Amino acid sequence: MQLKNSGIVKDQCLIGGAWTGTPALDVTNPATGEVIGRVPDLGAKETRAAIEAANAAFPAWSGLLAKERAAILRRWYELQREHKEDLARLMTAEQGKPLTESRAEVDYGASFTEFYAEEAKRVLGEIIPTPKRSGRMLVLKQPVGVVGAITPWNFPLAMITRKISPALAAGCTVVVKPAPETPLCALALAELAVQAGVPAGVLNVVTGDAEKIGGELTSNPLVRMITFTGSTEVGKLLMRQSAETVKKLALELGGNAPFIVFDDADVDAAVEGTLASKYRNSGQTCVSANRILVQDGIYTRFAEKLTAAAAELKVGEGTQEGVEQGPLINEAAVAKVEAHVKDAVAKGAKVLTGGAPHALGRTFYKPTVLAEVTPDMQLAQEETFGPIAPLFRFHDEAQAIALANGTPSGLAAYFYTRDLARAWRVAEALEYGMIGVNEGIISSELAPFGGVKESGQGREGSHHGIDEFVELKYVMMGGL
Ligand code: ADP
Repeated sequence: MQLKNSGIVKDQCLIGGAWTGTPALDVTNPATGEVIGRVPDLGAKETRAAIEAANAAFPAWSGLLAKERAAILRRWYELQREHKEDLARLMTAEQGKPLTESRAEVDYGASFTEFYAEEAKRVLGEIIPTPKRSGRMLVLKQPVGVVGAITPWNFPLAMITRKISPALAAGCTVVVKPAPETPLCALALAELAVQAGVPAGVLNVVTGDAEKIGGELTSNPLVRMITFTGSTEVGKLLMRQSAETVKKLALELGGNAPFIVFDDADVDAAVEGTLASKYRNSGQTCVSANRILVQDGIYTRFAEKLTAAAAELKVGEGTQEGVEQGPLINEAAVAKVEAHVKDAVAKGAKVLTGGAPHALGRTFYKPTVLAEVTPDMQLAQEETFGPIAPLFRFHDEAQAIALANGTPSGLAAYFYTRDLARAWRVAEALEYGMIGVNEGIISSELAPFGGVKESGQGREGSHHGIDEFVELKYVMMGGL
C-alpha cells in the first residue's frame, strides 16, 4: 500500500491522547487477502480507561464556547480534505470499494464534519411565553456526556464522522469502537483529529474484542449514550445491555429496502437508479435496494434493460481504473450471497445475468439479476448485502405497498413514477424513515438519515442529527 502521507496510518489505539497498545490483529485487503496492517487487541480494561479519559475531558470540552469547538471541527474537516487521496487509498485497501467510491466517501464523510462545525453554533435553547408574571420558563440544551460509538465496515469513514462530528459539536466526548475489518480509517481520522487540535481524551478509539469493548461501553455508568450502526441483531443486544443504566440510544440498523417501479415510470431513470442503489459498494449498504418490485406492464422492458446494464459492470480490484464493482468484504459475505441465490433458484427464480462467483475468485461475485422472485425466498426476508438485484412482480399499487411494508425493517424505500398524486400517496403510505422518489441515492449530510420499526431509532445528519447528542433541561425561574 503506497500512501503519500503515511503519517495517517496508525497501528495503535488512541486513549486519553496517547497512542496505546501492541499491534496484534491483522487487517486484510479483501481483494487480495494481503495483510495491510495490524491493530491492538484491547478489551474491557482499556475501554474503561478510554471512558475515564473521555469523562475527565468532558468538563473542559463542553465548557468551550461553541465557536471554539466549531473552529477545531472546521480544521478537522480541512485536514480530511487535504488527505483525501490517502484516506481514499487506505479505504480501498482495507474495505475493497472502488477508488472512485472511496473518494466520494471521503467527501461525504468530511461533509458531516463541515456541517456540524457550522451547526455547533446553532444549538439554540428556548424561552417559553410565561404562564406566570413573576416567573420565566426556559429550556437549555446541554451535551449528554460521554458517548460510546460502535461503527460498521461498509462506510469506514462516513459512519464515524456522521456520529462523532455532531457529538463533538454538541460538547460530548467520545469512545469509538470501529469495525475490526476497517480500523485503519478510524485511526487515521483520529490522527487527523489530534492534528486539528481535538484535546486529549475528547476522542478515543479502541480496537479489539467487540463483546468485551461493547460490554464495557454499555454497562459503564459514565457512558450516557450509545450510537451504533450495524446489524439489527447486535443493535438489539446493545439496547438490552444498555437498559441497565438507561442510556440514550441512537441506532441505525439493517434495512430491507424496497425499490418499486410503477408502469408509469421512466424506465431508463429507474434502471439508472437501481444500478446506483444496488451495485454501489457491491450492494453492501443498509439502504441498498434489496427487493425490486416491478409492475406487470413494465416488467419485461425493465428486466431487459437492467440485465444489459448489470452485465456491463466492470468487476475488479478497487484500485484498477474503471472498476465499478469491487470485492465483497470477506468470503463469508460471498457464502451468504451464494446461499440466497441458490435458495431463490431452487424456489423458481430465474438468473438473467450473473448468479455465480466471479472468475476473480475468493471475495468476488458477479453482478446478478434474478427474475420471478417471490416473498417466500430467503432474499425477500433478509438483507442480502451483495450485488444481487431480485425482481418481484406486482399488479397494482396496493399490492406494491403491502409487499414493501411487509417486513420488520423500515430504513429506506424507493419508487419510480411520473404520477404526482401517486408520488404523494405512496411516499406517505410506505413505513420507512427515508424515501427516494425517482432517486436511487438519497444520503446527504443535509438530510435526516434513519429508520423506523426494527431499522432503529434516532437520526443522523441535518440539524436533527445534533439533537441526538443534547439533553433538554427545563428551568423555571420564579420570584421575578
Ligand atoms: P456486520 O454483520 O455488518 O459486521 P455487526 O452488527 O456485526 O454488523 O457489526 C457492526 C459493529 O458492531 C462492528 O463494529 C462490530 O465489531 C460490532 N459488534 C459486533 N458484535 C458486538 C457486540 N456483541 N458488542 C458490541 N459491538 C459488537
